[in-house]
Amino acid sequence: MAYSTVKSFSRQPFFDTLISMDSRLATIHQRLIEHYDPNASLLHYRNAFELLIAVSLSAQTTDNQVNQVTPLLFERFPDPHAMAAAEQKDVEEIIHSTGFYKNKAKNCIGAAKILAERFSAKVPHTMEELVQIPGIGRKSAGVILHHIYGQPAIIVDTHFGRVINRLAMSSSKNPGIIEKDVSRLIPPELWSSWSMTANLHGRALCHARNPQCNSCFLQDLCPKIGVKNETEPVL
Ligand code: SF4
Repeated sequence: MAYSTVKSFSRQPFFDTLISMDSRLATIHQRLIEHYDPNASLLHYRNAFELLIAVSLSAQTTDNQVNQVTPLLFERFPDPHAMAAAEQKDVEEIIHSTGFYKNKAKNCIGAAKILAERFSAKVPHTMEELVQIPGIGRKSAGVILHHIYGQPAIIVDTHFGRVINRLAMSSSKNPGIIEKDVSRLIPPELWSSWSMTANLHGRALCHARNPQCNSCFLQDLCPKIGVKNETEPVL
């Protein structure tokens, strides 16, 4: 594997006095995969269709909330053909607790119709095709590409973006720019692994408010960009 060295970041005093950017990223990744499983999925699913629907429902809610409604949803509508023929009000009733349920129900049915009509009821395996499906943006498409097809994907959600900002791997809050910045720094074969483990790190320690820097196994490698309140270690 080969990391890219980014000159603009390497001028920062933190990196000049510590280790080079590529060594730093390799060490961070090594520690991340020692602590988190890159293949872990917080959403429950049994096949590509179920993951596509689950990930579209996960917008603006928790994975746990989605996992509570999908067993009944998939029992009633187990495949694209069944979901495409569903009454919107029946889907709305089941997914109500995930929020934005009218829009999400519309997207579930719309996605199922496209799968049935254009993709032989199969979930496509390219970013270009996936983002044409209602309710599926680049983040959701990346989740499907990684978990279902084992393809490299940079999956930028709020947790990943925050960790990447604090590690000085991107100074942007824009998901598209973060994706580009990270793609220049990290070799493609590690995109998914970085995505999943940095996401889990954001959930576990690098919280939006009060990140647990004093307990963090990346502390010696992290410039903590934008961090104001470091929480004391939990004893
Ligand atoms: S040291 Fe703090 S800011 Fe850096 S990754 Fe760890 S928790 Fe996040």
